[in-house]
Amino acid sequence: MNSIQNIYCVGRNYVMHAKELNNEVPTSPFLFTKPTHALIQATGQEIQLPSNRGEVHYEVELVIHIGKPYKLGLSVDEIVDKMAIGIDFTLREVQGELKKKGLPWLLAKGFPNSAVITPFIPFPGEESLKKTNFSLWKNGERVQNGNVEDMIFSLQTQIDFVAEHFGLSEGDIIYTGTPAGVGAIAHGDHLSLRWGEETLGECKISL
Ligand code: ZN
Repeated sequence: MNSIQNIYCVGRNYVMHAKELNNEVPTSPFLFTKPTHALIQATGQEIQLPSNRGEVHYEVELVIHIGKPYKLGLSVDEIVDKMAIGIDFTLREVQGELKKKGLPWLLAKGFPNSAVITPFIPFPGEESLKKTNFSLWKNGERVQNGNVEDMIFSLQTQIDFVAEHFGLSEGDIIYTGTPAGVGAIAHGDHLSLRWGEETLGECKISL
């Protein structure tokens, strides 16, 4: 975990999710970052989130880990060495206020423990990613289900865009956007993050 460098997050990368929040479907990738203090590995423990700033929403996302310095022309399979499932926790009401004022999203997206991540697994290759869905289960019920095939901007587009505008190297991770179905969490909720049938990580929410 301490080898993680930059935490990039892609917003509005699934049509159905952009629409559920009444956002326009973007025509170029839309990025924000989180501080490394936001990062926490989900290994079954209780995770503390803010309770005094309105609703906290879950956003389950596929997370890719960059394994070497970026060079133009490197394919996804060449530069990504590991993957995980993550939750981009969001203070939705705070975000709404920030959006209205045209301010950056950091206050809504960058709080401690806002970037939950499962232990990494080896990257299986972009083609085989399409055969497996990732999902979030809340108290035993599936609440989000996604597949890279439904992304607006492919992993390759995201990687090239991040590298061109911000830089990309070993130890950087990218939260690649959430599918539809985001919602609020409550104190005591149990969350499990699945890759296909396999649970890669879980946590219990404390508010
Ligand atoms: Zn997100």
